[in-house]
Amino acid sequence: MATSFEYAPAPESRGVVDIASSYGLFIDGDFVDGSGGSFKTISPASEEVLADIAEATEADVDLAVRAARRAYTRVWSRLSGRERGKYLFRIARILQERAREFAVLESLDNGKPIKESRDTDIPLAAAHFFYYAGWADKLSYAFPGETDPKPLGVAGQVIPWNFPLLMLAWKIAPALATGNTVVLKPAETTPLTALLFAQVCQQADLPPGVVNIVTGAGETGRAVVSHPGVNKVAFTGSTEVGRLIARAVAGTDKKVTLELGGKAANIVFDDAPVDQAVEGIVNGIFFNQGHVCCAGSRLLVQESVADEVLARLKRRMRTLRVGDPLDKNTDIGAINSREQLDKIRALSEIGEQEGSERWSAPCELPTRGFWFAPTIFTGVTQAHRIAREEIFGPVLSVLTFRTPKEAVEKANNTPFGLSAGIWSDKGSRILWMADQLRAGVVWANTFNKFDPTSPFGGYKESGYGREGGRHGLEGYLR
Ligand code: NAD
Repeated sequence: MATSFEYAPAPESRGVVDIASSYGLFIDGDFVDGSGGSFKTISPASEEVLADIAEATEADVDLAVRAARRAYTRVWSRLSGRERGKYLFRIARILQERAREFAVLESLDNGKPIKESRDTDIPLAAAHFFYYAGWADKLSYAFPGETDPKPLGVAGQVIPWNFPLLMLAWKIAPALATGNTVVLKPAETTPLTALLFAQVCQQADLPPGVVNIVTGAGETGRAVVSHPGVNKVAFTGSTEVGRLIARAVAGTDKKVTLELGGKAANIVFDDAPVDQAVEGIVNGIFFNQGHVCCAGSRLLVQESVADEVLARLKRRMRTLRVGDPLDKNTDIGAINSREQLDKIRALSEIGEQEGSERWSAPCELPTRGFWFAPTIFTGVTQAHRIAREEIFGPVLSVLTFRTPKEAVEKANNTPFGLSAGIWSDKGSRILWMADQLRAGVVWANTFNKFDPTSPFGGYKESGYGREGGRHGLEGYLR
């Protein structure tokens, strides 16, 4: 049976972006050779090598931190907020002008579908720069009673691979708006848009040293966060590495924000508009291949409608197109790395071994690259590992409940607390639920909606501190 229309291929052109064969580090306004080795970044959809990337050593990180310190003392902290704002507006506009280039590069290096990089990642990254540009000259009004908030100095920032440019924007925009300078390390599997962003800094005439980009893996990240010249550490990534960082900075006067993992409940009540809820479930777990910290990876569905919701969900999942990230019709792209694919496979096997029932949408997966079919597990209990651990892939664990109270208990029964979703026709129930859920963000009748004006962050093992909104300024001010 044909489950969806056959679409002719509609690939976005790769020609809009120039990828160099190798990249150095961006320190003090220039690309320089690192003192260490190099590593390759590949397209996860084809395993094609895209470029050779310098691996920054401790000595390189030291140069970057010194450059950031000089830029902070001599230039950036002396500029008025209005002048800083002008640079941020300029960067935002260049990101918009070069959006297509960024979108193609992001999809190539990360594996995410072009419709997501084009319509979500890149526009939101630009929006963050616009938003914080607006705050740069209004900091004295941001916090009642605090008329002269001061920057911290040099921010050391480490980001993950799931939203490379967007996470960069979440980190760099508020840091610069508040008068700090930055040393940022992108993830080792997705360095390319950060390096293109370095070119944007040059194009915007940003004073040298205000933004420095050092590429590398965990060791480089460790060197950034533990450098004594760093005043502020901002990290987004796994809870495991978050713990290491919290330990490394304990006893120093570094200010820290940690944005870590999640295992969000997406809760569907029997009075929810079912088709909308199904779209929300699909968006909640299959957006960005499920590589989303706030993904709705635990579906809690009210028992009386569970069969109907699951039937419609499976029907919808049969129409998802998995394949070439650069094809405009693709819904689900490649898994970001072999390592991540192995982790998703291993946890899915554990799900089966522990007794849950696995169903994957029938789809043909490309032979090269890293792929995983959209999958759901039913018959999951709270004790199962797939109900407790973050899989960070296109895998949904389905649980049921009978009463709102039971829904709350199950939703909160997790070491994480980043996000949650509620689907119901009743406003009073939504407000009551939102009040009970221990999650930083609660969406009602929608999921995975982001806006630069809205703070984002977690409770418990999901980390601390908020990014976005006025709250996002706090982490960068004294
Ligand atoms: P990860 O923790 O392995 O890596 C994140 C970054 O930290 C990478 O740049 C990595 O090179 C670096 N790193 C690794 N070891 C380090 C160390 N010892 N010291 C300093 N830096 C180190 O995480 P990942 O697998 O790249 O990303 C996925 C995780 O990120 C998921 O758990 C996800 O939930 C989380 N995440 C959270 C948010 C949020 O806002 N809460 C957003 C996106 C992703």
